[in-house]
Amino acid sequence: MNELTEQQQAELHQALLDLRMELQQMLKNSSDGAQPVSLDEPIGRLSRMDAMQQQSMVQANRRTTQTRLTKIESALRRHASDEYGLCVGCEEDIGYARLNAQPETPLCIDCQSNKETRNA
Ligand SMILES: [Zn+2]
Repeated sequence: MNELTEQQQAELHQALLDLRMELQQMLKNSSDGAQPVSLDEPIGRLSRMDAMQQQSMVQANRRTTQTRLTKIESALRRHASDEYGLCVGCEEDIGYARLNAQPETPLCIDCQSNKETRNA
C-alpha cells in the first residue's frame, strides 16, 4: 500500500502551508507589476510595448499562481477532512513520492495521465 504515515501526512501538510504562504507572498509582490501601464510616464512607443508585454507576462504568472493556490486550498480542505492523499478520481492512494513533488495534486498518476490524454 502507498498509504501515507502520520509523519508523511504532517510533512505534506506543512509543505502545503509553506507553499500557500509563498504563493500568497508572490501575488502580493507582483500586484504592482500588474497595474495598467501608466500613460503619463515619459516612455517611447517601443518601451511602452515592452512594458505591456511585461505586464501581460506578470498577469499570466499571477493566473498560474492563483490556480495553484486554489489547488493548495482544496488540498488543505481534503487534509482537514482526512481525505488527503487519496485520488479524487479513483480514490486510490496517490503515493508519497508524487505528493512530495507536488503536494497539492488531487489526482494519482494514472488519473492525471488519463486526463491529459483526454484533453490532448
Ligand atoms: Zn486516480
